[in-house]
Amino acid sequence: MLEFDLIARIRQRAGLREDVVLGIGDDCALLSPPAGMQLAVTTDTLNCGVHFPEETAPFDIGWKALAVNLSDLAAMGARPAWCTLSLSLPEAEAGFVDGFLDGFLTMAQRHDVAIVGGDTTRGPLSISVAALGFIGPGQALRRDGARAGDDIWVSGTLGDAAAALAQWQANAPIDLALRARLDRPTPRLELGRALCGIASACIDVSDGLLADLAHVCDASGVGAELQLEALPASAALDAAFDLGTRRQLQATGGDDYELCFCAQAVHRAQVEAIARDIGTPVKRIGQVTEGCRVIVRSSQGETWLPPSAGYVHFGETAAKPSERRQ
Ligand code: ADP
Ligand code: MG
Repeated sequence: MLEFDLIARIRQRAGLREDVVLGIGDDCALLSPPAGMQLAVTTDTLNCGVHFPEETAPFDIGWKALAVNLSDLAAMGARPAWCTLSLSLPEAEAGFVDGFLDGFLTMAQRHDVAIVGGDTTRGPLSISVAALGFIGPGQALRRDGARAGDDIWVSGTLGDAAAALAQWQANAPIDLALRARLDRPTPRLELGRALCGIASACIDVSDGLLADLAHVCDASGVGAELQLEALPASAALDAAFDLGTRRQLQATGGDDYELCFCAQAVHRAQVEAIARDIGTPVKRIGQVTEGCRVIVRSSQGETWLPPSAGYVHFGETAAKPSERRQ
């Protein structure tokens, strides 16, 4: 397939929105944001062998490439609208491109996102997406608003994606429910939007709970104390790992794309009502403190330390998905 054919294929399927004045095909897209709204802009890249194992299905690569970007919009409370798609492909193979687009566009249609442009080059498999959305002035869920005494909450369950990766790396059978969490993350867009005006700070858990919550603490100038037994686990995770490994995965495993947010205790009932209304479970897992560190405490009051604290690119302990035990 030639670059031109590939772009034509994407253009045919790009999705329609009234606020796209000019989409794919010119030097720039022309877009009309709603009057008075701010634009929320984010970009994330997925590299083959670093962010997904080489054998990942094209559908899942496409799904995840957009989902991780929408997760950033979710973490700000923004409403998604548009995206760009920059593809680096070793070869423009029709089967791969169509599968990839099926996954990407399933995610796009689900959240009414139009592809408005991108770039296509030859090179190692890598996908860069930018996502744009809208947020009212002063409404965004930033990282710097947490205050001592706030509750700390997390949506869904933790550690599932890292558990699937661990099974894959160990050449063990991969639990399908865990695998689905690694390959097809769910951006918590509805929850993020509903938390505007209620949450004091928010982040999506991409690198691991402790690492990401530390970003909130740094930005807000606060500390955090988490309750080890309160961290939510899926039934699949529970069944697949011993307690020690499970907790390590929950506290430090990346790629879950759940929302970790802070809110004043007076909002407890409201947060729970929101979660019920939209059908996304949330769990209270700790409290913001006046310190500057994230501490995990067991019910016996002992401090719990994970063997390692989350994924850091270029870090000494960074293990790549491509590294699988033979
Ligand atoms: P230019 O040389 O001006 O960058 P390109 O030939 O790269 O133009 O792209 C032509 C049009 O196709 C542009 O509108 C661009 O945004 C769009 N485009 C290119 N690659 C992609 C892609 N992978 N996904 C979506 N749109 C793309
Ligand atoms: Mg170009």
